[in-house]
Amino acid sequence: MKIYNTLTRQKEDFKPIKENEVGIYSCGPTVYSSPHIGNMYAYVCWDVLTRTFKYLGYKVNNVINITDVGHLISDADSGEDKMEKGSKREGLTVWEIAKKYENEFLENLKELNIELPWKMPRATDHIQEQIEIIKKIEANGFTYRTSDGIYFDTSKFADYGKFANLNLEKIREGMRVEVNEEKKNPSDFALWKFSPTNEKRQMEWESPWRMGFPGWHIECTAMSTKYLGETFDIHTGGEDHISVHHTNEIAQSFAAFGHNTAHYWMHNAFITFKGEKISKSSGGLYTIFDLKEMGFDPMAFRYMVLSSHYRKGMEFSLENLKVAERALNKLRGLKPTPNPSLDRAGSYSVNLEYKNEFEEKISDDLAMPEVLALVWKVVKSDLTLEEKWATILDFDKVLGLDLDSAKQNFIIPEEIIELNNKRIVFRKEKNYEEADELRKKINSLGYLVEDSENQCKIRPIK
Ligand code: AMP
Ligand code: ZN
Repeated sequence: MKIYNTLTRQKEDFKPIKENEVGIYSCGPTVYSSPHIGNMYAYVCWDVLTRTFKYLGYKVNNVINITDVGHLISDADSGEDKMEKGSKREGLTVWEIAKKYENEFLENLKELNIELPWKMPRATDHIQEQIEIIKKIEANGFTYRTSDGIYFDTSKFADYGKFANLNLEKIREGMRVEVNEEKKNPSDFALWKFSPTNEKRQMEWESPWRMGFPGWHIECTAMSTKYLGETFDIHTGGEDHISVHHTNEIAQSFAAFGHNTAHYWMHNAFITFKGEKISKSSGGLYTIFDLKEMGFDPMAFRYMVLSSHYRKGMEFSLENLKVAERALNKLRGLKPTPNPSLDRAGSYSVNLEYKNEFEEKISDDLAMPEVLALVWKVVKSDLTLEEKWATILDFDKVLGLDLDSAKQNFIIPEEIIELNNKRIVFRKEKNYEEADELRKKINSLGYLVEDSENQCKIRPIK
């Protein structure tokens, strides 16, 4: 197995710490709002990684944490607390916000057929572990105290910024207006923030320093090492984490343990929309449930993710999603009708030549676009339908498209999907009359729409 290691900026042979076992830590979601397709892109990529290791015979211990402590909006430890922001927005407590969006994240995993990780620890359940690591960092002389917290002194770590090829001089020059004048270096970051004296925070804890809450980066150092050990195999995250979050995790682990924690650091590139990072202003901030409401099958999104390489990212559009859904339904349509005379064990055999090719491609830093090309090569091959299906189902252990359950082996015509999208818009505008007209039109064309709280299904009238 070869994987691209951000530490060395090259593809390397994967050498596990323990034979046939792999420990993987993936930075998890911040549970203050609905996960969008960009977030879920990352978790599909890491699901493919864990499935690949399982397919190759490894025991996989993978951890995805839940960031439920409200770290501050900006990476510079300033600005509003994300969880408090969610709490104000919805009139719920921060604890209720955390629970609500953790559940939503779990529903997203299910919709996308992402296997539940081995462990899913919450930051708020690991405050003591975070305090213990900060104490170690402090004892080793890497911290200083300001009026609002305990900070990591990045000038004490000679290799700070090496991981992300950061030019610290440039950063210093670039930061003409330093938000926190008490910080010794612009790149220093909070390990523990003090609660304001004049205000009670919804989330705060006693500590050896003062009542407060942990900085963002320390939770990942605490939870990864608690479950996987002080050194483990792989740490993953989005490429946005390279310059700050992971750079700081690496600094923390050197200060606490004297070494880096993960041997391999893997990063996924981003989903873009009209060429830009998806955001409120550029658009494209869909959730999986938005796509479902438009009549798309979440598995079409998974197929679309597979068609991109995790280090290249993906341009998202509803048109591309339609193309992915068509391809997926074509694959599902291959399912042979059960043939009792062939249904004995061993009757459907996986083609070993294609299986070898498949293993080569997944082992080459998860070359999923090439794997999909191979799937279509199998489809077009002169194998029997049963052999094709058996071979593709074997690949599906990694693809995770859940092809065998073939939830939907009918194809909804685009005309119907478009009519339904218009109907949803009318419903959102509370224009029920027009919405109902469109529903009737869809019915007259032979399809039924079923609305429930947060989704809508279309199916043919039998
Ligand atoms: P967050 O909930 O903001 O902490 O993000 C969860 C994960 O989603 C992180 O690993 C991010 O790097 C990743 N992520 C956020 N936006 C995108 C995007 N547009 N494309 C791919 N990954 C993303
Ligand atoms: Zn993290």
